[in-house]
Amino acid sequence: MTVEVLPSNQPETFYRGAGRIAEFRNVPALPDRPEDWVGSVTTRFGRAPSGLSALADGRVLAEVIAADPAWWLGPARTDTGVLVKLLDAGQRLPLHVHPDRSFAHAHLASPYGKTEAWVIVAARPDAVVHLGFARDVEAAELAGWVAAQKTDEMLAATNRVPVAAGDAILCPAGLPHAIGDGILLVEVQEPTDFSVLLEYAGFGPADGHLGLGYDLALQCVDRAAWGPARLEALRGSAARLLPEAADEFFGARRLYGGDEIFAGFGVLVVVAGEGRLTGESDDLSIRRGDTLLIPYAAGPLRLQGRVEAIRLSA
Ligand SMILES: [Zn+2]
Repeated sequence: MTVEVLPSNQPETFYRGAGRIAEFRNVPALPDRPEDWVGSVTTRFGRAPSGLSALADGRVLAEVIAADPAWWLGPARTDTGVLVKLLDAGQRLPLHVHPDRSFAHAHLASPYGKTEAWVIVAARPDAVVHLGFARDVEAAELAGWVAAQKTDEMLAATNRVPVAAGDAILCPAGLPHAIGDGILLVEVQEPTDFSVLLEYAGFGPADGHLGLGYDLALQCVDRAAWGPARLEALRGSAARLLPEAADEFFGARRLYGGDEIFAGFGVLVVVAGEGRLTGESDDLSIRRGDTLLIPYAAGPLRLQGRVEAIRLSA
């Protein structure tokens, strides 16, 4: 067997869940742990080693990959290039922004920023995400909102975008966003934990600026207006789960029983049904809520049965 069935990996966060990960994964409920970092080799900002995934036998994934990168990643990669999470928003998350690669390179000593995307697994009927400002916002206005924590004004300036189970939305680095409550999603992102909190009142101390100070940190914010057409272009289509703009950051495919999974390092999240995952060295039963890590060495695999899964990779 080459594929790893992953135990859950639920680091602390500063917001509440609603028990959806326990229900989805069939694991014990940890109400204050609303995220599961899946196959993570990324640490929480300023909180290492928190965030790192372990395999079922207890070994730390990052160390296992470092010991045999070609087996795990194949000849074309030197790192996994991706971070996958399950996220259960039991309250609206704070409005925040992630830096892009050029900002992260210049100020955070990282080749990766944090463009991310969400595949909605479940959502209450009136669920929304806040995505981008609906009008141009001046730098001084944004700085004033953040300093005084005028969160009602800030949120009122954002687009409220309805979401439903099955939706997939790209959230480019720089774009202010907040996931609304009542949503369970699979998140794929560049492998960092860089967040600039525009809103911190009620969530924690005023230090959501990555140690850079807000004057500098707010320079990574896209303050331009995002209208309906630009927002619509962030959604996937029938032909592809995420828009083409996601391709330089990560890949995400929805797969069903009968589909082939091409060779390569990736994470598989089973979102519905049950079935089998088979390949030259692998044959395992899988069901909704399972999270699996596929090494390059597994070669091509096939899903079988009445099952639906999301494959995520760099
Ligand atoms: Zn985010």
